[in-house]
Amino acid sequence: MNSEVLYRELSELDKKHFLHPTTSIKQQQENGPDFIFTHGKGVRLFDLKGRSAIDGLSSLWNVNIGHGREEMARTAYEQMKTLAYSSCFATYSHEPAIRLAAKLADIAPGNLSAVFFTSGGSESNDTAYKLARHYWILKGEPERKKIISRTKSYHGVALGATSATGLKPFRDFTGSLAPDFCYVDHFSPADLRNKIEEEGPETVAAFIAEPVQGAGGLHLGPEGYFKEIRSICDEYGILLITDEVITAFGRTGSYFGIDHYSVEPDMMCFAKGITSGYAQLGGVMLTEELHRVFIDRSEGTLLHGYTYSGHPMACTVALKNLEIVESEGLIENARKMGEEMLKGFRSIEAESGIAANARALGLMGALEFVKNKETNERFQSPLAPKVVAEAAKRGLICRSVVFDQQDTLVFAPPLIMSREEMSELHSILEDAVKAVEKTIA
Ligand code: PLP
Repeated sequence: MNSEVLYRELSELDKKHFLHPTTSIKQQQENGPDFIFTHGKGVRLFDLKGRSAIDGLSSLWNVNIGHGREEMARTAYEQMKTLAYSSCFATYSHEPAIRLAAKLADIAPGNLSAVFFTSGGSESNDTAYKLARHYWILKGEPERKKIISRTKSYHGVALGATSATGLKPFRDFTGSLAPDFCYVDHFSPADLRNKIEEEGPETVAAFIAEPVQGAGGLHLGPEGYFKEIRSICDEYGILLITDEVITAFGRTGSYFGIDHYSVEPDMMCFAKGITSGYAQLGGVMLTEELHRVFIDRSEGTLLHGYTYSGHPMACTVALKNLEIVESEGLIENARKMGEEMLKGFRSIEAESGIAANARALGLMGALEFVKNKETNERFQSPLAPKVVAEAAKRGLICRSVVFDQQDTLVFAPPLIMSREEMSELHSILEDAVKAVEKTIA
């Protein structure tokens, strides 16, 4: 079958049977899938029509070591052949989960030393809320139930994670939310303090924050923000949970996003970059102090567990992924290429009448579009989605964020990015921005 015929067949089947995650159904039904990918290699994805594109978001901020790595496939194959699956419920265990837990304890920030495995970021967030509340039950303060999160945050789509997500459209999507969640301004420590006072500190279990807000439009905290947040949490005895689902394992140019701010969390959620998307895995880490409370005070069963908590193949793949991140110096590369990425964004900003507010931390970066660079006035209809479409035509995949009147492009290319590939990314982006700028001139 030739690829055009196959494309048409798959496109019709897609429209008829495939309810896509986080997708405009109208657009899918009108146009079919934009790309039907067939394979990936390095920083590029290839599709059925023979096109190739730089994966400027590492797919969903996750394919950090790049596509098509045979050593990952071999690792998964060997593990599947030996022990594809066995449970970690009750006191069953296996070496991949034990070794990965120990490895994470070794590299994690501060005193994080024990891990609960999940299959992804949303499950990790829901797990964190439940473990935080259970911790307070064990400590004899069961009324500490509330979870405070930030506006513009994204924590996933399970019911708890949706309820914690600050981006309102995600919460409005479903008729009712989980109770005991509240929100504060994304960068105001004073707002956190006021909210704690208003709710009553004795009712607050934890505060959760992404070290760099990703899906909400790539926002970096102001100088000193996390230090202040940590000290407010300490003052009121509230747990600090960092959501490192995007930022962990080198993405920001350090092992963990929070490392940039010299702050130690009480709990940390991770997923995505732990396997670079080669298997589904996430988890929550707890400090030794929290773990000690669970060990000393639990009497019954820890009644929380997923069938795939500690999946052997996923854990083995994660260990291989971390070995690659370390042996190939990808954290350092993310730092260097991140500086390069920002330099290129700034030069596009300087050349263009509409691009503004370039920012990056490691290989997480953003560029905004404004009508007026002085006042930051936005266009009535956002330009970022148009730039995404122009970039895709030219061989670059990136994402737009338009929530809350934002008009932003976000980038998170694979950590293996070379200088040449980065300059190709810039040149495609520059052309895409110019093409859109022409239409409004
Ligand atoms: N937390 C953050 C910060 C995320 O960016 C995401 C996904 O993008 C999630 C949680 C949810 O992860 P998942 O899609 O694996 O459930």
